[in-house]
Amino acid sequence: MAVTEPAPVALPAAHEGILRRQSLRESAARTYARSLPIVPVRARGLTIEGADGRRYLDCLSGAGTLALGHNHPVVLEAIRKVIDSGAPLHVLDLATPVKDAFTTELFATLPPQFADDARVQFCGPAGTDAVEAALKLVRTATGRSGLLAFTGAYHGMTAGALDASGGATDVRVTRLPFPQNYRCPFGIGGERGAELGARWTENLLDDSKGGVSTPAGMILEPVQGEGGVIPAPDAWMRRMREITAARSIPLIADEVQTGVGRTGAFWAVEHSGVVPDVMVLSKAIGGSLPLAVIVYRSELDAWQPGAHAGTFRGNQLAMAAGAATLAFVRENRLADRAATLGARMLGRLQGLAAAHPCIGDVRGRGLMIGVELVDPDAAAPDALVPPTAPALAAAVQQECLNRGLIVELGGRHSGVVRLLPPLTLTDEQAVAVLDRFADALADAERSMRHRTDNGQLH
Ligand code: PMP
Repeated sequence: MAVTEPAPVALPAAHEGILRRQSLRESAARTYARSLPIVPVRARGLTIEGADGRRYLDCLSGAGTLALGHNHPVVLEAIRKVIDSGAPLHVLDLATPVKDAFTTELFATLPPQFADDARVQFCGPAGTDAVEAALKLVRTATGRSGLLAFTGAYHGMTAGALDASGGATDVRVTRLPFPQNYRCPFGIGGERGAELGARWTENLLDDSKGGVSTPAGMILEPVQGEGGVIPAPDAWMRRMREITAARSIPLIADEVQTGVGRTGAFWAVEHSGVVPDVMVLSKAIGGSLPLAVIVYRSELDAWQPGAHAGTFRGNQLAMAAGAATLAFVRENRLADRAATLGARMLGRLQGLAAAHPCIGDVRGRGLMIGVELVDPDAAAPDALVPPTAPALAAAVQQECLNRGLIVELGGRHSGVVRLLPPLTLTDEQAVAVLDRFADALADAERSMRHRTDNGQLH
């Protein structure tokens, strides 16, 4: 066989074998592989083809990584160019033309007030590595150790990032209420609910008996992703900026998931006009390959040489793929496209909610969309909203898969169906995605009701 020939697609029979061997050999901690038992062998744009010959519309997009979908021609071309040039693929943190071009493109996309006086640190390749770097940076720069973080947050799986995430307990992080419309901790939602959260934050920091000393930083996601697609109101974002600036607390914006056009602005902080002190970037910036950086105000650059090292900080292929992705999103105004198409998709989902009481809330920003499923019949008499319905969400995800649509679950108890399609999604593809989702929802709802009527589910 000629070396240039593509590898043959595995035969359908191989599909079962691969899945069986995976479940025997891989860790109990595996995640997506459990709910999405598919064996991808080819992919292009929105579409993945499985070893069983089935085709799927992929609205998981590598957990929000694939801004341009799978194997976009500009990404493949950028990767090939590096390989064909004979450039080294591994260079630690040495300077290269590829890295120089990536950094130039990255800075060109950042808000000018931020980029004009910023430094970049290339981190280990995952988002969580960059979160760790950000925490270390602000601790070094301020000489303080505490951290302000939010309910429902997700920042990664390494120790520091996990501590900052909402699921963590028993850690040295001060947990503050993230504003939520639907499940507002103050029971009122909207701008007012968010304002009460801001006041609580302010009060806690200024209360000499509040039990919180001035922290090293505050970390937040402009739209919580894994937390169930919860966009922070712009006014609240500005309040967090005021509160932190007034107390010299560095503000860290975790844009690992929200960056590169996903929310309808190139960076989600642009919606509110907030200029953070540190931005944590990963996922889409690597154009589907692993890459993570922090960008921060130069004044914070107080750490010593080698203070934050790591072998894999120089992935040339990821930098080339990332630079091509950033340029393509910028030149083709894909953030605007995400805003327009996302608003249209939200509108249609809201229409669906009117006909389905099991849809408690539809929310999102740009092409970061969440549908919270609830059990209206299980609402306690004094509850403001019904409880979330994880079993229904899992059933919807399964029914979507049966119809060739890959969706993600998130939120408290995984009760939120998430759509993270590529920014290159066409109008027709958006309709196809929503048709399949609507169909899957109706079927899952019907079969859940049937099971409940038969007394099998309570
Ligand atoms: N921060 C946010 C906002 C994320 O969504 C994620 C991943 N979903 C991370 C950090 C961690 O990134 P990684 O999985 O690459 O470590």
